[in-house]
Amino acid sequence: MTLSEQHVFPERRAEIDLDAIRHNVRRLSAVILPAKLMAVVKADAYGHGMIPVAKAALKAGAHWLGVAHISEALTLRQAGIGAPVLAWLHTPASDFRAALEAGIDIGCSGWELEYIVAAARECQRPARVHLKIDTGLGRNGSTAALWDALVSEAMQYQDQGLLRVVGVFSHFAVADEPERAENDEQLRRFREAVAVAEDAGADLEVRHVANTPAMLSRPDAHFDLVRAGLGIYGLSPFENQTSAQLGLRPAMTLKALVASRKDVPAGQGVSYGLNYVTARPSTLALIPLGYADGVPRIATGGPVRINGTTYPVVGRIAMDQMVVDLGADTSVAAGPPVVGAEAELFGTGDDGGPTAEQWAAAAGTINYEIVTRIGPRVPRVYVNEGPAE
Ligand SMILES: *Cc1c(COP(=O)(O)O)cnc(C)c1O
Repeated sequence: MTLSEQHVFPERRAEIDLDAIRHNVRRLSAVILPAKLMAVVKADAYGHGMIPVAKAALKAGAHWLGVAHISEALTLRQAGIGAPVLAWLHTPASDFRAALEAGIDIGCSGWELEYIVAAARECQRPARVHLKIDTGLGRNGSTAALWDALVSEAMQYQDQGLLRVVGVFSHFAVADEPERAENDEQLRRFREAVAVAEDAGADLEVRHVANTPAMLSRPDAHFDLVRAGLGIYGLSPFENQTSAQLGLRPAMTLKALVASRKDVPAGQGVSYGLNYVTARPSTLALIPLGYADGVPRIATGGPVRINGTTYPVVGRIAMDQMVVDLGADTSVAAGPPVVGAEAELFGTGDDGGPTAEQWAAAAGTINYEIVTRIGPRVPRVYVNEGPAE
């Protein structure tokens, strides 16, 4: 690495491959035709960066964007993104009026209806509402018992010109386990809820229930629109299928330059607690990433690739740093320099490289969390941005 390259490439970085995002969007869009794709870009696009990902996804053919919070949707609008956006998670303190003024579609599970109508009256602009039915997840969404009342109330407001019911939606609980019968039951309840809305006169633009796992495993769940998060980032929602097997390309690569290398004797304790002690003379490499950067503290044993070889993290992961044991391999001594070498924690998984799934296993979590929790102290570096607009 030359001095000038050091300025271009931050020493610690999450590289986001926008060509991978575009590839994944195109691939998933083809799978669901004629249904359309909503790129779910909540939580800073699962840690990948909301605005660049949203723009790349739209360029590659996504028709909608999805976020949890109205505040996230407003950030998209402030960046000049005019595509249809749905926000679905609110509290009484959410800014429904700002959402209406920004032309944001609003998910409504029940209590929000009065707030949405009040906002519509204030800004004299009808709201675009997607009614949400809880078909079994037990989180947001109207219960089946309250659904008919919610629909008829919403239709009355529609008749008064205060809103339009443009969508009905729901969310799966176990779509990552396609063989479970609850998926069938949720779909059955969803169809029923849609029928109730349509019988009440709703002229729905979009019926949507599928997330990434349902989109890949249940063609009968595609309806008009599919809300895809994990898949557009190139990660697999299934325990027994890799990204590559699904034709997806992981978009985030987490890297740092090695900060220190030292040769130690047998018996050297490593990191807080001294839980790891070298069994033989060893070379230790220090990686300048820690739990402040979003690497889970519990994930000792997670893989780090340096100069083409993958090593496990040893000892406790600290706030800013972690240690890998390069062993007593003479090739380390004879090989390329370790200080300043690129250490890769996870990435595309090509060439046997480390993966977010391996970090998830080390941390007792899922790949969703590994990428999403990478924090703001790690600069995002966008590669393959494609032609400027
Ligand atoms: C986050 C979220 C999604 C996206 O789920 P993936 O499994 O990442 O595709 C879809 N719908 C809702 C309601 C969500 O909260």
